[in-house]
Formats: sequence, C-alpha cells, structure tokens
Amino acid sequence: MRDNDWLQKQLEYLLKTYFADVKITNPIEIKFGREAKYRFGSIRLVKPRGLRSPRFQTRFVGSFPNRVWNSLASRDIPQKSIITVTSMFARESVPTDVVRYTICHELCHYHHGFSSANRRLFKYPHHGGIVNKELNLHGAKDLVHAFKKWLKEYRKKILESRAIV
Ligand SMILES: [Zn+2]
Repeated sequence: MRDNDWLQKQLEYLLKTYFADVKITNPIEIKFGREAKYRFGSIRLVKPRGLRSPRFQTRFVGSFPNRVWNSLASRDIPQKSIITVTSMFARESVPTDVVRYTICHELCHYHHGFSSANRRLFKYPHHGGIVNKELNLHGAKDLVHAFKKWLKEYRKKILESRAIV
C-alpha cells in the first residue's frame, strides 16, 4: 500500500517536472483522505491548525476586536493548500500515472489561483477544459492520456458491478 510519504515524493517530483515555472505562493500538503469512488482528488486552502480556536485568539491577540484579528489573520498568517487523494489510490493496482494525473490536476487549480494564494486566472476551476489544456502545455500529455484510459475502464467496471447488484 502507498502511504502519505509516497504521495509527498510524487508531489515533489511533479512540481519539479511539470510545474517548475509555477509560483508557489503558499506551502502545499498532500495526504490520502477517505475512500471516495467518484471524487479522486481535491484541494483546499486552510489556515494553520488551531488558529481559528478562540483559546488561541485569546492567548495571542489578547483583546483585539474580531475585525482586527481577521485582518491580521488574512495578512500575516501563512496559509497552506491541502491536496487530498482518495484512499482507493493507495492500492498498487491503480497505475502510478493515474495518481500523478490526479495530483497534477489539483496543482493546476493551485496554479490558477483556486485554493491557493496565487492570483486567480479564471472564473471557474474547470471552465472550458482549462485543466487538461494546462497539463498538455506543461508537458503532462501522457498523464492526461493514462488517466482517460483508466477512467474509461473504471467506469465500465462500476457499471458492470451495478448490473450484478
Ligand atoms: Zn478539478
């Protein structure tokens, strides 16, 4: 089974290989999430753990009114992007390129300013196939191809298993 360290290595490899020209405006964390059958990956932007808890606010900002706290929080406290990959992809039977595609897909969102501190480049994250277009531009055509091929088979299997039930 693949683990979070494996994911981390993939992330580093993919950033270096396909996204060397992309601005990393905030740190990226990656981990396996729950076993999702239809949602393979996601990316969200979070503030460091604990910053939202009232105790932390009391300890660190004392009697600052909320308004001040909020502006402090958004300006000075680093945010991080968390990429979550379905646990289904921890199995070695899923081709590495499929997992790599999924990570690259989320990195595209990051690059486009969705769930990252980057400037937002588009109105919607999936508008007009921008993700795969971007991946092709970055030389990840093979990953797009591998994913499409796998997805076709995967959908077929899902449909067959439904037919049996
Ligand atoms: Zn997406």
